[in-house]
Amino acid sequence: MSLPHPKRIAIIGGGIGGLALAHALRNTSYIVTVYERDAQAGAREQGYQIGINADGLKALMTAIPDLAWKDVFDVKYMTVGLKGTNAALETLMKFEAPPVSVDGEVPPVGTVSRVLLRHAMASLLLQNSHGNGQTAGILFDKTYASHQTIGDHVVATFEDGTDTGPVDILIGADGSRSRLRTHLFPQLSYSPLNILNIGASIPLSTLPSDSVLRATVTSPNGAYLVRSYSKHGSSMIFLMSHNVVTRVDEIALVVTKKLPEEEMVSFRTRIKEAADDKAKAIIVREEYIKALKEGNFHQELLDLSNTMPLESYVLHIPMECFSMSIPKGFTASLQPTRVVLLGDAAHATTTHAGLGANTALQDAVDLANAIKRALEDAAPATLPNIMQQYHVAMFKRGEKVIKASTFGSAANTMAGIGAHVRDGAMIFGNTLMTVYKGITGR
Ligand SMILES: Cc1cc2nc3c(=O)[nH]c(=O)nc-3n(C[C@H](O)[C@H](O)[C@H](O)COP(=O)(O)OP(=O)(O)OC[C@H]3O[C@@H](n4cnc5c(N)ncnc54)[C@H](O)[C@@H]3O)c2cc1C
Repeated sequence: MSLPHPKRIAIIGGGIGGLALAHALRNTSYIVTVYERDAQAGAREQGYQIGINADGLKALMTAIPDLAWKDVFDVKYMTVGLKGTNAALETLMKFEAPPVSVDGEVPPVGTVSRVLLRHAMASLLLQNSHGNGQTAGILFDKTYASHQTIGDHVVATFEDGTDTGPVDILIGADGSRSRLRTHLFPQLSYSPLNILNIGASIPLSTLPSDSVLRATVTSPNGAYLVRSYSKHGSSMIFLMSHNVVTRVDEIALVVTKKLPEEEMVSFRTRIKEAADDKAKAIIVREEYIKALKEGNFHQELLDLSNTMPLESYVLHIPMECFSMSIPKGFTASLQPTRVVLLGDAAHATTTHAGLGANTALQDAVDLANAIKRALEDAAPATLPNIMQQYHVAMFKRGEKVIKASTFGSAANTMAGIGAHVRDGAMIFGNTLMTVYKGITGR
């Protein structure tokens, strides 16, 4: 059966990647619809900061050139560099980001609020779909259930019994727990690593002016992204941001810790059985303080954790680290298809390389280019082959990102000799960098 024109594209999932893809396709002749499970763009307040690197920023601005980036980027606390410290907050390694910018303004390393970014992406799409005759839009409250490929089209069905109607391409951008992925590639596993990330966020004003933490994190031009490494299987990350909603300067303090299997099982059970958010926060605080004590972190951090109110603990983002694994030979086995994945749906990682969103944005731009090539330049019959090529390249990049993130998770939770070697490598790297700067003057 040949499809009537225009071409139709369905994107399952209106997160970072799915929305970027819809934008990248929005000024084409295709009808692009994003189907999102949430009731609206800000339904689940996943209010964490996302680090956008140079590749992610380039992809974001390519997909959405009209994005008002100043409204979503944290322009007050631009990340000016990275620091690694020991548990006592003594610097082991310091890296200053080169002052590269886009249009002389945006630094390549910066943070955005995920909620704000998603909001801005969704509202621009809605504005334009109603405003200037563009053909991309979003339908909320649509939870993908299944799909079927029939001849040269695909139909996806939603939990409410409705469906997409026949589309030329179906895209799974439904995040790390993608249902579409489990239907398409059941051989891809997504497993727990027995690593916890427990986060708290407090107003910067909570820190005294002579605070060691404040001095470690601040810089005259912005802030350092700091990770503090203990030698006992844990680390902490500190991230400053300006909350544009509350207009409060905040510091996020997240402890990462590897747990023995039985302790992780017990934590999961206690959280599951917690009667409400208050009960959950009490368990989380207990685990947080325990991690700080076991990690022998700076006394100031321990004192802070003892005085932080329960509301400081961030409960509504995933606390447990999971990672996908892509089996050997998987990319070679990929077939021509009209059903494709992007972002976390294809290569969900831990947060420890800061690459998930950046990669989802790059996938979106690459996929948009492949779709345009397939629908405009190539004969219709080659569309599945072009999608296969996209899949191969995307999964290859995904494999690297997964490796980088699990390596990061392992480095962040090393104990004993491994931890000594890691810290030694940081000191050595830092010395080399200092010598290089001294010689070259750069
Ligand atoms: C605490 C934390 C910090 C992070 N920090 C960084 C960072 O610094 N840098 C970085 O690059 N990345 C970071 N990430 C990862 C980043 O958030 C993700 O990689 C990114 O959001 C992935 O984009 P995505 O579009 O693939 O998936 P998502 O943004 O998760 O979007 C998936 C969408 O699909 C929807 N959906 C799910 N199931 C269905 C269904 N059945 N039907 C319809 N819709 C569905 C969901 O509601 C969601 O809107 C961080 C993540 C966390 C949790």
